Amino acid sequence: MSRVFWTAAWSKNLSDTLWAKISNLWDAAGFSEMIAPGRLVAIKAPLGGIGSHYYLRPLVIRAITEKVIAAGGQPVITDTTNTLWNRENPSFSWHEEVAVKGYSANSCGAPLVIANGYAGEDGMLVPTTGAELGGIEVAQAIYEAEAIIVVTHVTGHPLAGISGAVTALGSECLTSSGRRRLHEGIKPIFKGELCNHCGLCVANCPWGALISNGTGPRLLPDCCKGCIRCLAYCPQRAITVCDSHKRLFQRRVAEAATAVQRTARGKIGIFSFLVDITPQPDCYPSSGPPLVVDIGFLASQDPVAADSASVSLIQAAQGFPRDFLPIKEGVEKFALATGADPWFLLDVAAGLGLGKKDYELLEVPEEGKGNA
Ligand code: SF4
Ligand code: SF4
Repeated sequence: MSRVFWTAAWSKNLSDTLWAKISNLWDAAGFSEMIAPGRLVAIKAPLGGIGSHYYLRPLVIRAITEKVIAAGGQPVITDTTNTLWNRENPSFSWHEEVAVKGYSANSCGAPLVIANGYAGEDGMLVPTTGAELGGIEVAQAIYEAEAIIVVTHVTGHPLAGISGAVTALGSECLTSSGRRRLHEGIKPIFKGELCNHCGLCVANCPWGALISNGTGPRLLPDCCKGCIRCLAYCPQRAITVCDSHKRLFQRRVAEAATAVQRTARGKIGIFSFLVDITPQPDCYPSSGPPLVVDIGFLASQDPVAADSASVSLIQAAQGFPRDFLPIKEGVEKFALATGADPWFLLDVAAGLGLGKKDYELLEVPEEGKGNA
């Protein structure tokens, strides 16, 4: 059984600041023990993407950076570019996106670098565990790091069910080629009866794989990269992906995560932020409203346990009233909102040895009330 440390998202006294919460979680989870003096520590954070206002504040990154420095490590704050959705100039737009969102060396306390380099292909082929991939290209800044602190904003994900620790490792720590391999062969399905012929999917397909034929979009299968941007933009929920393709993606993500775990030799610390828990991940240009009330922050050295705790806590939480999704306590919110089952991803990840689904949830008391 793995340990997952939890603290509430809210504060009852003024000394229980975000800084204090993150510091206490770090100490409880024993992250300093992973940091070697003067060695590179990659703080992998969800920096890119623009449009959605549900993203982590720079203050969160700053508080973690200061703990890395206090432990003697050399922090670098990093994320990869997404060439699936932006094939023209992802590095240019990445710098613009992080600046607009307020992430900088000044605000976050350490240099910001694109983990997979300016062209997106800086990385190393690393063996994976499992039958699907046979190795995956891990982004260079992740590969070089002595330890990795993964900062996740937990949300839904249209293919994986959950965007959390496992997807951060198995999708967001890869080169552009590696990430494209996760999506190979995944094809959208169009429900003609729901389509209103708005053309948004055709206009937003980055790969020219859709044409409009007057009765709705038509897919050019050889051009399609399985990026599902069309699904994201469809206002009618007229585009979906079959369950077998979602599961293929989940198996690949879990396998790719084993490569990242291998490069870090197990020195991985997870911070999961369960606030503004939206149906769509941060890389989307917009999102629906949060599914549930803010729950809190988690820290663990086990990515599967961190995600299992996240899904369970969200499932147990009272959902916000929604006109199209009446969500109650006990309902698995991500599967309902995204159509993808997060437990399948976590079952596969646990089966590959990435971590354990069984966890012990340990509350870290608020500042001023003693330590766990
Ligand atoms: S058709 Fe959809 S899934 Fe295929 S490349 Fe275009 S946007 Fe991506
Ligand atoms: S975005 Fe959706 S509703 Fe609009 S044309 Fe495409 S499938 Fe039809």
